[in-house]
Amino acid sequence: MKTFIIGHKCPDTDSIMSALVMANLEKNFGNTNEIIPCRLGNLNKETEYILNYFNVEAPMLIDSVKDADDVILVDHNSFLESAPDIADAKISKVIDHHRISNFETTEPLFYMAEPVGCTCTILYELYRMNNVEIDSTYAGLMLSAIISDSLLFKSPTCTPKDIKAAEELANIANIDINSYGLDMLKAGTDLSSFSASELINIDSKEFNANGARFQVSQVNTVDIDSVLKNKSEIEFVMNELISQKSLDLFMFVITDILNCNSKAIVLGNKSSVVEKVYNTTIDDNVAFLPGVVSRKKQIVPQITENI
Ligand code: MG
Ligand code: MG
Ligand code: MG
Repeated sequence: MKTFIIGHKCPDTDSIMSALVMANLEKNFGNTNEIIPCRLGNLNKETEYILNYFNVEAPMLIDSVKDADDVILVDHNSFLESAPDIADAKISKVIDHHRISNFETTEPLFYMAEPVGCTCTILYELYRMNNVEIDSTYAGLMLSAIISDSLLFKSPTCTPKDIKAAEELANIANIDINSYGLDMLKAGTDLSSFSASELINIDSKEFNANGARFQVSQVNTVDIDSVLKNKSEIEFVMNELISQKSLDLFMFVITDILNCNSKAIVLGNKSSVVEKVYNTTIDDNVAFLPGVVSRKKQIVPQITENI
């Protein structure tokens, strides 16, 4: 019997770490299946940096859950974000910090959701609730995910629970949060080797709302203009996806992690929604979004409501 644990497509650090950490928790809970942490895509550079730092093997790359007897979802619930055949799988647990949408099961399940900044914050609570000891490696992995999802506590998604968990985990892992956190985040901003279509797929999510379909990709950087140097190639790929998937709106959000601002390349027949939501003008397909760093809190709800 096999239990697969998977995060979302275009896996970010939280999806990867949550799969690894949840696998460790399941073993402690006495799950006797073969427990296999999995991923639905390539690692980003930030995640690679973290796995190298702690000398931990990446989850198994999969494109289907057909070999699993049951599946545990971490860091997502939407089937749009999951394995293509997830609707046919038995989902036994979900641990997540996103809104619940496009999700349905035929059987009862364990579902733990909290509006905190990171799935690993919830996993940390699960360790504590169940008196499972946290070793320094798993503490480091969870800490890294919290730093990643909260942009070192600067994102509006970050809650006091995330900060408290991070501080306790940093203690266990014996890590200086700020210096390690900056190194880790900066490792993820090295975008030099990515093609335009790879850039768009580092961290990309699709949404349906009010009969419209939109996609929001996001990259982190310390220099927005250096990413915009490839603007015409990026626009070309975005326009291809717009026609392929009949998208009404596509935002490619470039986030400056030091100054906590973003610029977005905005394309699609509903582009004016972005001007309305942020009270801004789109100039040569680019909108400046001051203070915007969180897709989950500052982009998706507002676009969903207005599209
Ligand atoms: Mg995530
Ligand atoms: Mg997350
Ligand atoms: Mg994210």
